[in-house]
Amino acid sequence: MKAMKNRNSILIAGPCSAETKEQVIKTAKKINQEINIDFLRAGIWKPRTRPNSFEGIGEKGLKWLKEAGRVINKPVITEVASTSHVEAALKTEIDALWLGARTTVNPFLTEEISESLRGVDMPIAIKNPINPDINLWIGAFERIHQKTKGDIILIHRGFSYFGKSEYRNNPNWEIPIEMMRRYPGISMICDPSHISGNVKLIPIIAQKAIDLNMNGLMIETHIDPKNAKSDAKQQITPIELKKIISALVFKEEFSINENFTNALQLLRSKIDTVDNEIINLFAQRFKIIEEIGDYKKDNKITVYQPERWNEIIKSRIETSKFHELNIAFIQEYMDLIHKESIRVQTQILNKK
Ligand code: PEP
Ligand code: MN
Repeated sequence: MKAMKNRNSILIAGPCSAETKEQVIKTAKKINQEINIDFLRAGIWKPRTRPNSFEGIGEKGLKWLKEAGRVINKPVITEVASTSHVEAALKTEIDALWLGARTTVNPFLTEEISESLRGVDMPIAIKNPINPDINLWIGAFERIHQKTKGDIILIHRGFSYFGKSEYRNNPNWEIPIEMMRRYPGISMICDPSHISGNVKLIPIIAQKAIDLNMNGLMIETHIDPKNAKSDAKQQITPIELKKIISALVFKEEFSINENFTNALQLLRSKIDTVDNEIINLFAQRFKIIEEIGDYKKDNKITVYQPERWNEIIKSRIETSKFHELNIAFIQEYMDLIHKESIRVQTQILNKK
């Protein structure tokens, strides 16, 4: 991304979806006026999780995207999810393609798409699969890499997560870091828009990606985000895009030994993920505690039930032994949990 002051970085921006010809061209012109991008993006076929939402404008949008690219003199990129999409995109001379998270997850589809890209010389970007399964990402990468002649770019867009999370898609940073470690010559860029799901988190995620030495960003940018037909909450204006990119801090690498830095980053990211999961699990546990509290209140049962607690301690110690954990530590931790559970339930029982 020349715009990002970093020699090898790639900046991809543009709307989530092409909606009208005017919207694509206006967005492109305004972005180009604010900042130097490497690719203009727009989704033509939108794979929505649920039916009856906007499913993209279809093939005619390819021409709008190509024309917008010509107007600002930039290559254009769109998502393909089938061989017929690939054919239509090639016919319209789209400059680069990406496989979405819902495609990477499916080896049948990636196989078919990779066949239709055999011998094709254009950049192909591969988003991580929806679920945090690195092997699916690797599989899609290998299939495409074996057949196309062009550069491959990997895009980190986060992973689905059951339960509450501050992200739309959990970053699981250790997965893209591991991909970077395995494929050091392949560009890894981050899509903070789909990780965040809202405008607020985008700059934080973007900075984190830069701190991890990723090679660029894909950010959904719309001329009028509020009225966007898809992903309205996470799209930003071209002016906001410029602000976010200009505010990024490119740090000097604090270790000259890149292998060491990567190994340490990888381990730290794993710790981050585990800690977040522990907190999410705490939240789940205390939600159940509250439900039990309500039940005990309705049925006039006491909060503290010694047999149940003895049972819990016994079974948790067994599990801890299996994992060779320090039993004294686990006992202390369980006591803490128990104290807090009793506090929460007593509060519920005392509620009028
Ligand atoms: C997109 O980039 O608009 C998109 C649909 O992304 P993903 O495949 O990451 O959900
Ligand atoms: Mn989108």
